[in-house]
Amino acid sequence: MLYDIAIIGAGITGSMIARELAKYNLSVIVLEKENDVAMGSSKANSGIVHAGYDAKPGTLKAQMNVLGCKMMPKVASELGVPYRKNGSLVVAFCEEEMASVQELYKRGIINGVENLHVLGQSRLRSLEPNISPNAVGALYAPDAGIVCPYSLTIAAIGNAMDNGVELKRDFQVTGLYDRSTHFEIVSPRESVEASLVVNAAGLYADAIASFVGDDFFSIHPRRGEYFLFDTSIGDVVNATVFQAPTAMGKGILVTPTTHGNLMIGPTAEDIEDKEDKKTTAPGLNKVLRDAAKSVPDLPSGGIITAFTGLRAVGSSGDFIICQSQNHPRLIHAAAIESPGLASSPAIAAYVESMLQQMGVLTHKRHDYNPYRSPIPCLREMCDDDRASLIAHDPAYGRIVCRCEEISEGEIRDAIRRNPGALDCDGVKRRTRSGMGRCQGGFCLPLVTELLSKELGIPMEQVTKKGPGSEILSYRL
Ligand SMILES: Cc1cc2nc3c(=O)[nH]c(=O)nc-3n(C[C@H](O)[C@H](O)[C@H](O)COP(=O)(O)OP(=O)(O)OC[C@H]3O[C@@H](n4cnc5c(N)ncnc54)[C@H](O)[C@@H]3O)c2cc1C
Repeated sequence: MLYDIAIIGAGITGSMIARELAKYNLSVIVLEKENDVAMGSSKANSGIVHAGYDAKPGTLKAQMNVLGCKMMPKVASELGVPYRKNGSLVVAFCEEEMASVQELYKRGIINGVENLHVLGQSRLRSLEPNISPNAVGALYAPDAGIVCPYSLTIAAIGNAMDNGVELKRDFQVTGLYDRSTHFEIVSPRESVEASLVVNAAGLYADAIASFVGDDFFSIHPRRGEYFLFDTSIGDVVNATVFQAPTAMGKGILVTPTTHGNLMIGPTAEDIEDKEDKKTTAPGLNKVLRDAAKSVPDLPSGGIITAFTGLRAVGSSGDFIICQSQNHPRLIHAAAIESPGLASSPAIAAYVESMLQQMGVLTHKRHDYNPYRSPIPCLREMCDDDRASLIAHDPAYGRIVCRCEEISEGEIRDAIRRNPGALDCDGVKRRTRSGMGRCQGGFCLPLVTELLSKELGIPMEQVTKKGPGSEILSYRL
């Protein structure tokens, strides 16, 4: 089959573009090298919907960020994804840092960010009572928010699939050939043909570009390490607390997550290996030490996990969203580093308008449905709603994950609906089963059993995160 459009990469960029293109009468396929979506930068990041004061005026980053921040509440609501407009603060600890805060304020105004304020110490402390007494003031952006990055990605591609977009996982693009009327996109096992290709391959967007001789940009990885605390101290801060940038860098943020946890991080370390997602003792020590500058005495006993995300830093310093220099039917959506998550709805609309100008998007579908309902979340329901759901389907009454109160029904939904979970980590990202205090110690065997049953495979073939991570060896 010849597809109209193939999108390489199912991170937030590729998934939002797929959702935008699902509005049209086109055959669209998304090709992803991993066995699940949201496995690159879109899995592990701060989840901040930045207001847009940080990016350099006049850049695509600034334009996409400000627009994306405005679009996000509606997109998240259509997709049934938790989003909270909690505001952000850039805190200064001396008069010199107040000067950087003033600079960011001016930049924000030029970029078109609304409702920005510079706060003095007392107003800051009234907003955030747990902030360090050493804080002297802050930039306040009440329109900034937080969103769960992988939930947003899963929901965007899921909604695209519900509207007819295809997803092929385990499809690592290893070659891209211009066959004059179309592209042949090759993986080690099979190939796909498409009239037009969108390159949204994150850290590997430069490799995809090089297949057709585009070498005008490169991407290098920058590591960011985090600690996640349990929900008991999730309300230590209300807003996302950044530190004023200094000559030493952008500092460490302290933020609540949409699931009620507290997160601190990230570091910023340029590395060579695009697969090196390890956490390091020096990195994590720095996170703890520097977060204490903003909020002293965070209880380290509340830490439940640490993780690393890799930024895809482009050589131009800006997002690269353009037609290929050599092949106009190839579009790059590359170097989408921060604020790529916040910008993602605007990036998708930008690519849509490029394709409109190219005359590719002619007929809109009449049956396009922008809505996706979330999986019923038992722990957030009142007793009456729980009882009626359980009466309708007893699987919602069988609790599998005790820490997060996730039922068999919710896990079954995560496996069955688009894009279905294929392994235990996939279930975890879709339902939070295994994300609580015990980190899967109790529920992992039950989730394994459910995956085996739903996917029709022996338990020994169920994996934690794809081939090579099988959980059970043999039956005793
Ligand atoms: C530490 C950190 C903190 C961040 N914080 C924020 C924040 O708070 N707010 C914000 O707005 N942004 C933030 N970002 C940036 C944001 O995470 C990214 O801009 C966004 O996730 C980029 O999405 P993407 O889809 O372009 O890339 P990715 O999510 O990396 O997706 C690319 C996809 O392409 C696939 N792929 C790669 N090569 C191939 C191939 N050959 N064949 C098939 N598939 C392939 C990958 O497997 C991956 O799934 C942060 C990033 C990091 C790392």
